[in-house]
Amino acid sequence: MTKNPKIDKATLVAFSVDEIGDNHLFTTVETPMKADAFKMTDHEKKEKIAFHFTEIMEVLGLDLTDDSLKGTPQRVAKMYVDEIFCGLNPANKPKVALFDNKYQYNQMLVEKNITFYSNCEHHFVPIYGKIHVAYVSKGKVIGLSKINRIVQYFAQRPQVQERLTMQIALELQEILQTEDIAVIVDAKHLCVSSRGIKDDASATVTNYFGGVFQKSDKVNELLQLIKN
Ligand SMILES: [Zn+2]
Repeated sequence: MTKNPKIDKATLVAFSVDEIGDNHLFTTVETPMKADAFKMTDHEKKEKIAFHFTEIMEVLGLDLTDDSLKGTPQRVAKMYVDEIFCGLNPANKPKVALFDNKYQYNQMLVEKNITFYSNCEHHFVPIYGKIHVAYVSKGKVIGLSKINRIVQYFAQRPQVQERLTMQIALELQEILQTEDIAVIVDAKHLCVSSRGIKDDASATVTNYFGGVFQKSDKVNELLQLIKN
């Protein structure tokens, strides 16, 4: 259940494309990015994506002179760059101000049922669900809405659920300067429910339990709190 942040990268990258197939394995905790990922401006990216999306639609045989279809490549390009994949760009990372823990509240704080929408990096169809985040302050606290923003930032990338879970946890550990972070992601994958195996009933749960959350009494307390 517990994820170790110090995952051996050598074992993670040892999958081939064929092995990954529909199995939703992931290779690195960091989103794999090219060195020149942000050489192009957002405007240039949108023009290029619209061009290539036009090609995809034409290959599929769609008539792009139809009024309903002709704006689609531009809409998709804008949506990719400005919305659903804007979390790829570190410039869009939320700025987080920390506050002193004035009330000396040293119990766990749980932000539960954070709704998120992401996209599976293997099929580019939605992953969506709820995320629960808990931490125990080591002296600093974070504004509650910032936890939501951090979740959204990492969700707005092509993702795999395990990596999303870890990226949120590691970021919060870094910001709050504590190991004591728990992240639980309960999600539906449209690539599992709307295609492939077409299982609409199943959900996938991943979690990261750091620091005090590795103790079973803390985990039980947390699970109790998010149950209702
Ligand atoms: Zn998928």
